[in-house]
Amino acid sequence: REHNRTALVTGANRGIGLETCRQLDLAGLDVVLASRDPDRGRAAARTLNSPRIRAEELDVTDAKSVRRCAERLANAGVEVDVLVNNAGIYPTVSYFSLDEDVMRRALDVNLMGAFHTCQAFVPDMVRRGYGRVVNVSSGLGALTENVPSPAAYGISKAALNALTLVVSAAVPQSVKVNAVCPGWVRTDMGGRGAPTSVEKGADTVAWLARLPDSGPTGGFFRNRRRIDW
Ligand code: NDP
Repeated sequence: REHNRTALVTGANRGIGLETCRQLDLAGLDVVLASRDPDRGRAAARTLNSPRIRAEELDVTDAKSVRRCAERLANAGVEVDVLVNNAGIYPTVSYFSLDEDVMRRALDVNLMGAFHTCQAFVPDMVRRGYGRVVNVSSGLGALTENVPSPAAYGISKAALNALTLVVSAAVPQSVKVNAVCPGWVRTDMGGRGAPTSVEKGADTVAWLARLPDSGPTGGFFRNRRRIDW
């Protein structure tokens, strides 16, 4: 190969997404730092200070925004080899306090976001014979571990795990599609009391993004190990 692999990370202007960009850049990949707010994305990209990182606007809930981002990249000659679906929201309400619009919003970001980006970017990976998709999920979406109390979040992440399996079965082995639980991580979402650093939280994400051809697909991972869902 004459060029570096390129990874696109959604929701990458802060938290685990931004740290994943940093780790993938350090590993020598070209990185598209995607964010719904272009100013926040550009500011975040500047903090990483690498010529291999470019910021792009991408709202995962808006199919048009996803398509426009894919077109801008194609026009610039950028081929996305790795897709990290990291954008997420965490509504904490339990089932009987859950408004319909909160439920829909959680599904829109946490599930439909990956639905749109996979439709936009995975067919080209299949055509080129190389691809890695990493869906940043949660232990709260693993129904074998617990019954999630934040209902909208647990249901959306369980559905994201299901989407992971469905997409992995729809592509050849040259495209690996996996989900990851980053642990409980010190970010705006996880809060200051979370036990896991953002570096450690992004580690399995970046590892799955760079799996060798012999690597797994259709799995759910935490700490680089397969877990049940
Ligand atoms: P943060 O809240 O720190 O960051 C979330 C990111 O998602 C932000 O960049 C946010 O952008 C972005 N985002 C939200 N909505 C959209 C949208 N519509 N389009 C594009 N981007 C959007 O969360 P974390 O970094 O902690 O979480 C990252 C992922 O890890 C999430 O999927 C989360 O569910 C998962 N996770 C996190 C855990 C933790 O303990 N932190 C535990 C388990 C899973 P903006 O700044 O514009 O709001």
